[in-house]
Amino acid sequence: MDVTRFAPSPNGSLHLGHAYSAIVAHDLALSEGGRFLLRIEDIDGGRSRPELAEEFRADLAWLGLEWEEVPAQSSRVDEYEVAAATLAAMGLLYPCSCSRAEIAAAATRTGPDGPVYPGTCKAHPPARGEAVAWRLDVEAAMARTGPLVWSDALTGEQVARPDLLGDVVLVRKDPDTPASYHLAVTLDDAADGITLVTRGADLFAATHIHRLLQELLGLPVPRWHHHALLLDSDGRKLAKRRNSPSLADRRLAGEDGAELARLLRMGEMPGGITLGAGLDSQP
Ligand code: GLU
Repeated sequence: MDVTRFAPSPNGSLHLGHAYSAIVAHDLALSEGGRFLLRIEDIDGGRSRPELAEEFRADLAWLGLEWEEVPAQSSRVDEYEVAAATLAAMGLLYPCSCSRAEIAAAATRTGPDGPVYPGTCKAHPPARGEAVAWRLDVEAAMARTGPLVWSDALTGEQVARPDLLGDVVLVRKDPDTPASYHLAVTLDDAADGITLVTRGADLFAATHIHRLLQELLGLPVPRWHHHALLLDSDGRKLAKRRNSPSLADRRLAGEDGAELARLLRMGEMPGGITLGAGLDSQP
């Protein structure tokens, strides 16, 4: 019996890809008497629109899903700070003042999420008083934990490669957003007792970092299920505000949500949308 979750960020309306993700998580849990949780990932203070949480609940109910809601990220900031302080005390965080443009200019390799941080501020710490983010020293962290593995339900056992994403930010520069996605989601999944993390294959590489954080912070290790993504007729993944009508648009236009959920479960995607060709275990 698994505990799964759907964890949308309230920075734009949900689209069919989110519906598919929520249905996968819901069905994996409830087919065996487990629990399906909804968690609003509103850590990004600058971009979050609180009213969207209510829209998301209406969308899920329209699809015919049932869920338990757990506390939103904005209520857990203290826990993120404690964890960051723990990692800092272990000597595994370093301050970084680099801008996005500086990183893009200095990077020597591109990882699954774009330019990989080249460690500029690890070699040359920023001046005191500058606004800084805090990055995980992945090399030092991996030296401390030794090799790690994790398990994906669809692609099997994986050797953790947090080095592929490099020294990710765990505490952001922006005071409105105290913890990064990686730190917050790892702590939340543990706090919520998630046993099977279900999400799109676009977050496959992030799991390497999450596995490392779990080991460093002594958190339980769940299993993962990275499902294929829905693609538009040009083969691009669906994106908020770009190429797919939102669930709320469909709901308000009177479409039958239960019927849409039935089609998504059967793999019959509406309007030229396809399910991506399986999972890419290559990061
Ligand atoms: N909040 C993330 C998003 O909306 C999902 C995070 C996750 O499932 O791990 O893309």
